[in-house]
Amino acid sequence: MSRRGEFDLIAELFAPLAASTPGAYGLTDDAAVLEVPAGRSLVATTDAIVAGVHFLADDPPDLVARKLVRVNLSDLAAMGATPWGMLLTACLPRDVDDPWLESFAAGLKADRAEFGVDLIGGDTVATPGPATFSLTALGLVPTGTALLRRGACVGDVIVVSGTIGDAALGLKACRGSLGVAAAEARFLIDRYRLPQPRLGLGPRLIGLAHACLDVSDGLLQDLGHVCTLAGLGAGLGAGLGADLKADLIPLSPAARAAIVSAPERMESVLAGGDDYELLFTIAPEDMGRVESAAAIAGVAVTAIGRMVAAPGVRVLDADGGDVTPARRGYRHFGPETAEGKRQ
Ligand code: ADP
Ligand code: MG
Repeated sequence: MSRRGEFDLIAELFAPLAASTPGAYGLTDDAAVLEVPAGRSLVATTDAIVAGVHFLADDPPDLVARKLVRVNLSDLAAMGATPWGMLLTACLPRDVDDPWLESFAAGLKADRAEFGVDLIGGDTVATPGPATFSLTALGLVPTGTALLRRGACVGDVIVVSGTIGDAALGLKACRGSLGVAAAEARFLIDRYRLPQPRLGLGPRLIGLAHACLDVSDGLLQDLGHVCTLAGLGAGLGAGLGADLKADLIPLSPAARAAIVSAPERMESVLAGGDDYELLFTIAPEDMGRVESAAAIAGVAVTAIGRMVAAPGVRVLDADGGDVTPARRGYRHFGPETAEGKRQ
């Protein structure tokens, strides 16, 4: 049980995180007042997490908070935006204790420092249900330049940042042994618990990426969105398709080790969620510029396939054989059974 009431909680744990934003008035007023700079557009996104669904009661609270921040900042990166502020709704069971809340706030503080983004407001309520947090992230992008999921063209090269599949394998490692070395299992679990929003890369893709999103629900499913939306405005009802080369998909050494010991895990790499890498399409002649941007951002980029006219996402092996798995990715609702995230 917290000894703090709602107001002490805000004043002691959250108000220090608003210190760099004068318009947040130290979280003492009803709302924050912000001035969008001339020539910029506001980008807004929100994500919610529920205890028992997206995190477990015994997960380290600071990592729960940091992942919540990061999944939102990843959406900003995918739009080409730079973080500007965040708002947190905390729905807390009455039995939440002070060490848990202090650790959660320490996680917010760490990522506020790492990404230079203040907590400028929110709400704090008690709930009879499981702990639930919703974070809203605000970002800025030069007006008219936001990276959208629509816009991919036939012939575009499909590019991903970083490595794919670590988080899905990390979730498996949380649940049981993967049969890999301890250091490799730790790496994969870290990638699951602490994703890295590609904020250095996203804004640098403005003017280069025709379509962009972050991979949060599985590479194949998210690429499917890019394909479907490519039809919008182009008069292509069914959208476009994507041909991926399985052996080009960038894997970390730890993921490679996990797949060597059980090749069927490649399906988790392709359909598992939570990578929070950027997936985007570019004109082939721009790959050099994208590689330069990625080098400045300090992240690898890899071309993994091409946009094609025939609708649908296909995965091809080295001989051109179709090895597309049946499972595409994670859905919160709907007919497909979910394996990708915590239930
Ligand atoms: P009101 O009742 O007018 O909504 P609150 O007492 O809920 O005001 O909030 C007071 C201030 O504290 C507001 O600026 C609000 O944005 C901020 N705040 C409340 N809860 C949080 C939270 N979980 N994280 C960040 N700021 C918060
Ligand atoms: Mg309130």
